[in-house]
Amino acid sequence: MAVPKSHPRYLSLMIRERIVKGVAQGITSMHGLLAHGRGEAFDYLVGEKTTRKARQQIKKAAKLLLHAKRPIISVNGNAAALCPKELVQLSKAIPAGLEVNIFHPSKSRERKIAACLKRHGAKEVLLPHKGRIRFIASNRRFCNEDGIAKAGLVFVPLEDGDRCQALIRMKKKVISIDLNPMSRTAKSATINIQDNIVRAMPLLVEEVKRQKWLNLNNPD
Ligand code: ATP
Repeated sequence: MAVPKSHPRYLSLMIRERIVKGVAQGITSMHGLLAHGRGEAFDYLVGEKTTRKARQQIKKAAKLLLHAKRPIISVNGNAAALCPKELVQLSKAIPAGLEVNIFHPSKSRERKIAACLKRHGAKEVLLPHKGRIRFIASNRRFCNEDGIAKAGLVFVPLEDGDRCQALIRMKKKVISIDLNPMSRTAKSATINIQDNIVRAMPLLVEEVKRQKWLNLNNPD
């Protein structure tokens, strides 16, 4: 769809286009469109801008990611459609592994998400295999035995509440990005960044790089 740049909702519409394209490419599920719509509504309420509080949450998240034992980045269909490049950049900057984990079961979609991340520079992307997340019954209980199963911290942009709560019950730290402060994810995550993933991810990548540089140059 050709949207003129002068359109007052240009950015929001372009982000929507990325999700629609994700569905067309078989990366995002149809249900992902609805989840995105919910996110859009909350983005409207925060003025479609990164708030000061979100910037503080991004700083805290970067610190936690850099100090975590075996951090892993869990990627679903919406996250892959919206910011594949930044997910790969974050995994390299920390460094942390990338693992595909989706709610609606589809081996083909898992493979397409992994291929999308690889096109954006990822060397390795884990898929659900022999690992299990306890306390949940959905498809998302399957995980990789060398990824989420062993991780001390799971970064889960656009998480569903059940799994966030289950990961916390497994004594893992969880960092989420969720515009809805009332979601179970936002309420139960160790840190929730209340911002649009499209705005938050580049800021998080930069903050991780900044803190790494500071740590190297000021070891005390
Ligand atoms: P709960 O966490 O309460 O169980 P849920 O799992 O039912 O909620 P979903 O329907 O899976 O939530 O929706 C995903 C969540 O992601 C919503 O809370 C929505 O606000 C949020 N969200 C959707 N798109 C974005 C986005 N682009 N950036 C940040 N958050 C988003």
